[in-house]
Amino acid sequence: SGKWGRVIEILKVFEEDCATPIGKLRQVADAMTVEMHAGLASEGGSKLKMLISYVDNLPSGDEQGFFYALDLGGTNFRVMRVLLGGKQDRVVKQEFEELSIPPPLMTGSSDELFNFIAEALAKFVATEGEDFHLQAGRQRELGFTFSFPVKQTSLCSGTLINWTKGFSIEDAIGQDVVGELIKAMERVGLDMNVTALVNDTVGTLAGGRYYNPDVVAAVILGTGTNAAYVERANAIPKWQGLLPKSGEMVINMEWGNFRSSHLPLTEYDHSLDFESLNPGEQILEKIISGMYLGEILRRVLLKMAEEAAFFGDSIPPKLKVPFIIRTPTMSAMHSDTSPDLKVVGSKLKDILEVPTTSLKMRKVVISLCNIIATRGARLSAAGIYGILKKLGRDAPKDGETTQKSVIAMDGGLFEHYTQFSECMESSLKELLGNEASDSVEVIHSNDGSGVGAALLAASHSQYL
Ligand code: ADP
Ligand code: MG
Repeated sequence: SGKWGRVIEILKVFEEDCATPIGKLRQVADAMTVEMHAGLASEGGSKLKMLISYVDNLPSGDEQGFFYALDLGGTNFRVMRVLLGGKQDRVVKQEFEELSIPPPLMTGSSDELFNFIAEALAKFVATEGEDFHLQAGRQRELGFTFSFPVKQTSLCSGTLINWTKGFSIEDAIGQDVVGELIKAMERVGLDMNVTALVNDTVGTLAGGRYYNPDVVAAVILGTGTNAAYVERANAIPKWQGLLPKSGEMVINMEWGNFRSSHLPLTEYDHSLDFESLNPGEQILEKIISGMYLGEILRRVLLKMAEEAAFFGDSIPPKLKVPFIIRTPTMSAMHSDTSPDLKVVGSKLKDILEVPTTSLKMRKVVISLCNIIATRGARLSAAGIYGILKKLGRDAPKDGETTQKSVIAMDGGLFEHYTQFSECMESSLKELLGNEASDSVEVIHSNDGSGVGAALLAASHSQYL
C-alpha cells in the first residue's frame, strides 16, 4: 500500500542522511585533528576542550600498596580496592561493588549526590578484610574517577565545567569536585585522602599502559563517549606551567562535544538535541554513545508510526515516551538471527506494547538498528584515526622501524554491542589501509579506569 511505500521512503531518507562514506570519515578525522590543535592552542579555542589532566607519568608497573578507587560514570557507580604488588605480582587482589545511581540524584543537589557516594564508599570500606592491611598511622588513599568535564587545578583537584549524559546538578557546576567529595566524607565520618582525580578516559589510559607499554590513547564508548591520549608537553601552547620532566602530558579531549559540518546529522538528531538537557552540546556523543542510540531509533519509529501508520492506525502510546528504547534493547534486536526475528517481535511487544508485528516490519527495525549503529561505529573510528593523525601514527614512516600504537577501549557499548565494535574496528582498518593497520591495535581494557585511578593514586601517594 501507499503507507508502506512511505515507510520505505522514511527509511531510505534516514539511511542517506546517516551515510558515512570513507571520504566523509576522512573529513571528520581531519576536522578532529584541526580542532585538537585549536583546543591545545588556547583555552576555549575549540569545541574540544583538550583538558590538561596533570598526569605526566603513566604507570610503570612498580606501583605498590593498597588503594581505593571510586568511579562515577553515567549510569553506574563503582567502588573498588586493589592491592598492588609491583612489577612481578601486579594486581594481587581486587574487590569491587557496583551500584546504580538513583535517577533523582542525577538532577538534584550536589550534597545529595556526594552524600550517596560517600555513604556507599563508607559501607564498602567497612567490609575491608585482613588481606588489605593498612600500615599503622596511615590514611587510606583514593583515586577518584569522575567522567565529566573538569578543569583540573592539580592532579587532585578540579572544578566541574558542565554536566553531560543526563546529569544536571546546577549547584555543583564551578565547584571543586574533590572538595565536594571530601565534605561528604566528613559528613559520614570517613577518613580518606583523595590522591588523584581522573577522567575515566585518563584512568583507562593509565590502566591500559600498566599492562601494555604501547598504549597511546584510550577511548570510552559507554553511556557517553570520550577519548584521552598522550601528548608532547611542548605541543600544548596553552600550558603555562613548567614542562614536566617526562616531556609528556595526558590530554582529556572531551571529544563528545566535537561537532563539525561534516558530521552526518538527521532531523531526528536535531530534535533529540533540542529536547535534551544540554542542547547544542555533546553533538558527537549524541550520535555515537549508548545513552542515545536507542532514543534515535525510537524517534525514527515514531515518525514512521505518525506518518506511515507503521504500527497500524493508532500510535503505540509507549512509543511517545523518551528513552523508552534503551541501547541494550536495540543491540539485542540487532543481534537477532532467528528466521522470524522473534527477539525483535518480543522486544516490540514488551517495550512498546505492540502485540503483533509482521516479519517485514521487524526487518525495517533491524535496518534502522544497522543504520544507527554503523554511523556511530564509523564516526568513532574516524575520531580514533584523527588522534592517530595528530600523533603522526596514521601511516608507516619511511626508514623507521614501525612503532606500535595501541588504543585502550572500554565502556558498555564497546563491550556488549558486537556489531558496533566490529564495525568500528573494520572501519578503522579501512581508514588506515593494510600497512598501517598492522601497527595499530585496539584492545579492550576491562575496568581499566578503576584500576587506572588506583594506580595513579599509588604513584602520587602522600607516603612516597
Ligand atoms: P558508564 O558509561 O555509565 O560509565 P558503562 O561503560 O558500563 O557505564 O556503559 C554503560 C552503557 O553501555 C549503558 O548506558 C548502555 O548504553 C551501554 N550498554 C550496556 N550494555 C549494552 C548492550 N548489551 N548493548 C549495547 N549497549 C550497551
Ligand atoms: Mg564508565
